[in-house]
Parts: sequence; structure tokens; C-alpha cells
Amino acid sequence: MSYRYDPENIFAKILRGEIPCQKVLETEHSLAFRDIAPQAPHHVLVIPKGAYVCYEHFAAEATDAEILDFTRAIGEVCRIEAISPGAGGAGYRLISNCGTHGMQEVPHLHVHVLGGRVLGRMLTAKREAG
Ligand code: 5GP
Repeated sequence: MSYRYDPENIFAKILRGEIPCQKVLETEHSLAFRDIAPQAPHHVLVIPKGAYVCYEHFAAEATDAEILDFTRAIGEVCRIEAISPGAGGAGYRLISNCGTHGMQEVPHLHVHVLGGRVLGRMLTAKREAG
């Protein structure tokens, strides 16, 4: 398996500090920041600091420490945003898009954390052939 990572993608630039972001959480291996075009009252993107294109790339090649840190960072963001049912929130949705069919816009792994309103059904676009 080979993955080609583009170091000029926008999230790589955010990680290098070349583009600003509204930071929500930073850990040793992960960064969480607000989406520039939020689709819900709470819309945070959680990314690993390492150069991973998408989820299964990360799952295959990240270290245990990176995976643990990233997983915990996502949970922490849910608590920070007060959308976690475990802390009295009303719930949330995690989305990670990959590739053309996933309609991934930025080729650096990110998990969308969405909440703050009823989010509707999981998929609404019409099923297309292919
Ligand atoms: P994707 O479609 O790849 O899953 O999602 C990419 C997300 O990144 C989109 O929701 C888009 O609004 C967000 N985004 C794109 N450029 C920027 C940026 O420069 N800053 C921030 N904070 N979010 C961005």
C-alpha cells in the first residue's frame, strides 16, 4: 500500500503555522480547530500532526501513541464542546471523508466533530450508480 501525502495541503499549512486557525485543543500528536465553514453550531476538525492522508493510512502506519492521542483528543473535543451525552450534552456525529467517493476536500486525515443541533439522517444525497 502506498499513500502520497501532499505537504502543501491546507491542514499541513495550519500545522506549520503558515495559516491561522481557531484552536480548540492541542496535544502531543493532535490538533483540533474550528471548521472555517461550520455546518452545525459545533463543528470542530481533529487532525493528527503526522502526515497521514486518510483514516486507513493512519490506522496502518501511525504509532500506537499517535492513535491513542488522536482517539482521546476526539473524545476531549466532545467534552470541551459540551456535546457529550456522558456530560449532559445532546450528542454529536463524527465524520471522516476519504477520497473521491468520500468527497474529501483536504488530503490530510481529519475527523469532523459536529453537534449542537439535530443533524438529520446520516446520508441524504441520492444514491448514484458507480
Ligand atoms: P472534507 O470535505 O475534506 O472532509 O472537509 C474539509 C473541511 O475543511 C471542510 O469542512 C472545510 O470547510 C474545512 N476547511 C477548508 N479550508 C479550511 C481552512 O483554511 N481552515 C479551516 N479551519 N477549515 C478549512
